[in-house]
Amino acid sequence: MRQSSLVVVANRLPLDDSAARDGACEWRRSPGGLSGALHAILQQTPATWVGWDGEVGLAPRLPDLGAVRLRPVALTAAEQAGYYEGFANSTLWPLYHDAVQQPVFQREWWETYRSVNQRFAEAAAEVAGKHAAVWVQDYHLQLVPQMLRELRPDLLIGFFMHVPFPPPELFMQLPRRVELIRGMLGADLVGFQREQAAHNLAQLAQKLLGAEASDDAIIVDGRTVRTGAFPVSIDVAEMRALATRPDVVKQVEQLRHDLGEAKRVLVSVDRLDYTKGIEHRLTAYRELLRDGHVKVRDTVLVQVAVPSRERVESYRELRDRIEGEVGRINGEYGRVGEPAIHYLNQPFTRAQLAALYQTADVMVVTPLRDGMNLVAKEFVAAREDGAGALVLSEFAGAAAELSQAFLVNPHDVDDLKQTLLRALEASPEDRAARMEAMRRHLAEHDILAWARAYLTELDHTGRLARRFI
Ligand code: UDP
Repeated sequence: MRQSSLVVVANRLPLDDSAARDGACEWRRSPGGLSGALHAILQQTPATWVGWDGEVGLAPRLPDLGAVRLRPVALTAAEQAGYYEGFANSTLWPLYHDAVQQPVFQREWWETYRSVNQRFAEAAAEVAGKHAAVWVQDYHLQLVPQMLRELRPDLLIGFFMHVPFPPPELFMQLPRRVELIRGMLGADLVGFQREQAAHNLAQLAQKLLGAEASDDAIIVDGRTVRTGAFPVSIDVAEMRALATRPDVVKQVEQLRHDLGEAKRVLVSVDRLDYTKGIEHRLTAYRELLRDGHVKVRDTVLVQVAVPSRERVESYRELRDRIEGEVGRINGEYGRVGEPAIHYLNQPFTRAQLAALYQTADVMVVTPLRDGMNLVAKEFVAAREDGAGALVLSEFAGAAAELSQAFLVNPHDVDDLKQTLLRALEASPEDRAARMEAMRRHLAEHDILAWARAYLTELDHTGRLARRFI
């Protein structure tokens, strides 16, 4: 196999599932922000992407994607259960999101997580050229940096954590905590969404390894690991182009007509995940209806809740609870032809999302904890008209940048209610000024700016050639 000077290692290959089956590939843009995020960068830099193809046994038939070569890692059903659904999504995911759901740890998952990480590291070692840069993504692959360093000490290794990284009080609960910290610290640069996460890692490295650590560098085994915040973003130009496409503009008109021209429209778009705060939001909305602050005659909520991780029991239970609650609210407050909530448990294309974002008077993004939340940024980018309001959780990474949103504590139902009303009732001038400020920020901080910032920092370690940037 040809060797590349830049290698991206991520849990999934950036492929659309159905497209992969008939051999005609497109970039995957399904739920999960990562593949969308890296799409823009890899079009500009010949590279290899190492990742799981998502289908057992599909690996040998995958073609390359333009400039990007694909190196699939096949997983058995047992590996998917132990590594992906188990350790990554039932242990690390809840723990890293403030344990808003109790993390589960089964000892046999660890061994699978470790051996699958080893396989990813071996695949990366195989395709990386001499002194290549390898950029490892996210909590699924936290052991890969150290494993890769052992296999290929010549490489420049970056690690980026897309999800939050918790404070020591939470992280210390993890069995295998030392291995997990050591795994990440195999990188030359560890990037996070927020400064606080780098601070948490420094404290943990001191506590668990006795390392000398500050918020931007950790010295471990005589090697300096740099750390820092690099808030991920979206392809702003792509979202703007989508928003103005004639078929999307038509969809907006149709949606407006279908929802009721005179109605105020609230929109939420989430993966169906307990971190997204959907239940708290529904409680707030039910109480607003109950108290007469909103009426189905003049206001409607569209809740997209994309199916996610349905093989994990807690996700199936969450879906049942949410659907029960939506049914109760519609049963109690809806009228014939006029539901209080339009609930959609199906994936939307990016064009459909661009239409939906433009239909919103108020976009409601209220996760209990979220690494970034790309939906919030996409909404702002899609609003070429400069109208609409964003209600945004303080606990989403995006809040650090989109501070002109209507910020809310999503755990506090009363705050949710008041903030939703404030956003609904804000003057057009107030909304426009807020959106303008956020749009200006995003225009300068898009996905390419993120990649440049990260790769420039990696370059500063002294070993990455300028040609990657
Ligand atoms: N998304 C999509 N179709 C959907 C719902 C979401 O393509 O039906 C995309 C959305 O545009 C965004 C990503 O999935 O780019 C979700 O990223 P976010 O950071 O908001 O949340 P995550 O799902 O990664 O936790």
